[in-house]
Amino acid sequence: MATQHHEEHSFFGDVLKYFENAAKHLNYPQGLLDQIKYCNSVYRMRFPVRVGDSLEVIEAYRVEHSHHRMPTKGGIRYAMSVTQDEVMALAALMTYKCAIVDVPFGGAKGGVKIDPKNYTLDQLERITRRYTTELIKKNFIGPGIDVPAPDYGTGEREMSWIMDTYTTFFPGQIDGMGCVTGKPVTQGGISGRREATGLGVYFGVREACSFADDMERLGMSVGLKGKSVVVQGLGNVGYHAAKYFHEGGAKVIALAEFEGAIYNADGLNYEEVFQHRKKTGSILHFPGATNLANSSDALELACDILIPAALENQIHEGNASRIKAKIIGEAANGPVTAEAEEILNAKGIMVIPDIYLNAGGVTVSYFEWLKNLSHVRFGRLGKRFDENLNNNIIDAVEEMTGRSLSEQRRQLIGRGADEVDFVYSGLEETMIEAYRQIREVKKEIPSIPDYRTAAFVVAIRKIARSYESLGVFP
Ligand code: GLU
Repeated sequence: MATQHHEEHSFFGDVLKYFENAAKHLNYPQGLLDQIKYCNSVYRMRFPVRVGDSLEVIEAYRVEHSHHRMPTKGGIRYAMSVTQDEVMALAALMTYKCAIVDVPFGGAKGGVKIDPKNYTLDQLERITRRYTTELIKKNFIGPGIDVPAPDYGTGEREMSWIMDTYTTFFPGQIDGMGCVTGKPVTQGGISGRREATGLGVYFGVREACSFADDMERLGMSVGLKGKSVVVQGLGNVGYHAAKYFHEGGAKVIALAEFEGAIYNADGLNYEEVFQHRKKTGSILHFPGATNLANSSDALELACDILIPAALENQIHEGNASRIKAKIIGEAANGPVTAEAEEILNAKGIMVIPDIYLNAGGVTVSYFEWLKNLSHVRFGRLGKRFDENLNNNIIDAVEEMTGRSLSEQRRQLIGRGADEVDFVYSGLEETMIEAYRQIREVKKEIPSIPDYRTAAFVVAIRKIARSYESLGVFP
């Protein structure tokens, strides 16, 4: 994604700053705060992989930020921008993210410094399997230790290679499948994981837009209907976020990818744009839309809701003052820098923070892990029973009233839940409940300036509680 890069900028430094901004509003001893905020284990590796006729030494990381809950959890990213600082920051964000949505894991993150586009399928498989082996060597992977998942540049394919490598090293380990999440459904994955982050983003923004007083402050009506949305990034998260905003009645007016951006005030169909990009190799020249030469120009368009769903550092001190959105929903991790946030706050823009808004991915990863440990698909036992019971109730009501339901109605009320119904329902409940907790804290402590600080307060309180046994409470 084209962006202005600040060499000296430390992403982990930003996360520490957010932490300290929140800690100011809490009364915990310094030792406890230090125990929470620093990374517990940082593993840097370099391993050789044969690429064509030569040998390439790959730089990679896995960081476990917090062991207060086990296993630790977080995605693996394949990108040239991977550095130790970045992986540490992303691992820390995972800790707070899991705490906010009550997912009982510590935070972790992995990174492999490659551009996946430069490798063949075979080579990517070799890199992934070798990376997994390095994790096994140092005990940095396992269903009760550290459980990776997809992130930028990785997906279901990589997760199935990881699981296959792990289970080959540990044959007979009954819970081995739970060593990684985001797997294909045929390989122990769960229905609904693929769209989970984007759907969670939608649920979160929808919840934020449901409070009349908050919307009034932003000069907007309640609800998503007719709101204009700009989405940066058409990867898994951006694509699904655009889809659900569209289906929820909002209007997606611009889409950005690294080659540029397109704009249409009347709205863009995310699916047609996605197919156009697949066919032509570029988002540009989409029929009926205006091309924007720089991808980052899309961020500065006037809109109600801006969804950065690509990488970190997209809204920085260089462009923050030109942002015209009323709400920024952080679908990516760290798209707004700490300096930019101060500018946005002063402009009255509401930033819904990543550690809450993109937690849908890890929430459904948690459901996948539970499924793997229980060795049964959600809904398998109860679905038919519920269906029979519901139909018996409908029959009884029809008998008593002498009126009958339409076939469509009967199906809607009568059916039992499938796995994906449980996943969506669990995700929706999680996103709504977490938003309310953050909003409550912001109301409870009026000196808290923004939702990010409120979200960090929620997270730190929950993590601190798990350290109660250390006896260091004031
Ligand atoms: N990589 C995703 C994130 O940043 C998902 C992590 C997971 O499912 O463990 O939240």
